[in-house]
Amino acid sequence: MSIKVFRCTQCGATLFPARYLCPSCGGAEWSALDAESGTVTAATVVRYRVGADSSGGVPLASVATQAGPIVVARLDSPAEIGDTVNLALDAQHRIVARRD
Ligand SMILES: [Zn+2]
Repeated sequence: MSIKVFRCTQCGATLFPARYLCPSCGGAEWSALDAESGTVTAATVVRYRVGADSSGGVPLASVATQAGPIVVARLDSPAEIGDTVNLALDAQHRIVARRD
C-alpha cells in the first residue's frame, strides 16, 4: 500500500499528514498524491525505555518524498542520508522505508 500526501488545490502546497486547512493559504480542498519513494534526509534510532523493548530500538528516517513533504518512516533496512528509499504502509498503517 502506498502512502498519500496532500496537495492544496489553491496554492499547490504539499503536506503530510493532512490538515483541515492549508497553512499557506487557508484553503480546505486537497488532492491526494502517491508518495512511493523519497530521499533520506536524517536517520536515527529511537530507543524505548529500559524494559519496554530488548531489541535495541527502532531505526527511523526522515524521508523527503518526491511529492514534497518530509515523512518519518521506520527503516526496514539500513539506510544513510542521501539514499533513495521506497515508502509503503505496513499492516498497522505505519510508514516503512525500504532501500531498493
Ligand atoms: Zn494552500
